[in-house]
Amino acid sequence: MAKVRFEHVRKVYENGYVGVADADFEIAHGEMLVLVGPSGCGKSTLLRMVAGLESITSGALAIGDRIVNDVSPRDRDIAMVFQNYALYPHMSVAENLAFGLRLRGTPKAEVDRRVAEAATMLDLGRMLPLKPAQLSGGQRQRVALGRALVRQPAVFLLDEPLSNLDAKLRLSTRVEIAKLHRAVGATMIYVTHDQIEAMTLGQRIVVMRDGRVQQIDAPMRLYERP
Ligand code: ADP
Ligand code: ADP
Repeated sequence: MAKVRFEHVRKVYENGYVGVADADFEIAHGEMLVLVGPSGCGKSTLLRMVAGLESITSGALAIGDRIVNDVSPRDRDIAMVFQNYALYPHMSVAENLAFGLRLRGTPKAEVDRRVAEAATMLDLGRMLPLKPAQLSGGQRQRVALGRALVRQPAVFLLDEPLSNLDAKLRLSTRVEIAKLHRAVGATMIYVTHDQIEAMTLGQRIVVMRDGRVQQIDAPMRLYERP
């Protein structure tokens, strides 16, 4: 677990477009922070910079006490969950959960233990032998969450994880994510354009607009303003 700190972080794309103008705030250790704002305001850019998938033009980004500007994604102690699940279609659920750990040379007994633990926590036990195509969207997203969970990252990055689900699954998966956050106590950064998700999940909400942070506050305080 770790805090995440943006120090005057700026992202200018190669074509000169300013994706993020000047992000300067901190996410507490164990906090669930939600990024909201209209499409194109820079939410994904900010998240992808934490993941190391997007370079930082200027400023500093720290995870824990370490400046990570030049640290590769795999050395960052983060795990990311995407809206389209990004599961390996030819692998079983169990193999999908285990794959990232195996790639890193985690001993088999430890892989088995973590996979079993994640399967219990996310109620995936019966699905372990199945392929992603045999699962519903909600189940696939639980596998994607499980794959992040087994890594035991300091920081979870969630990019609109519910946006491909129908309304009923959105609700149950949202509850699942809140449960996971409480159980693991990890720092989470959650991107959405859905105000209900932001209000119900966020301990604090960052409102972005045109690449800038407009407001940061607890959900109750945010929406009582004129
Ligand atoms: P959001 O996630 O809030 O919808 P993004 O962070 O994806 O917004 O994008 C922020 C802005 O940066 C958008 O206007 C988008 O078009 C632009 N952008 C994203 N990626 C690139 C890129 N590779 N080159 C130029 N502009 C980009
Ligand atoms: P292997 O024969 O190497 O165990 P499998 O395809 O059976 O390969 O499983 C891949 C990984 O998925 C295993 O290493 C294990 O971590 C996990 N796994 C498989 N089945 C289960 C299960 N029933 N409960 C917990 N973890 C499992």
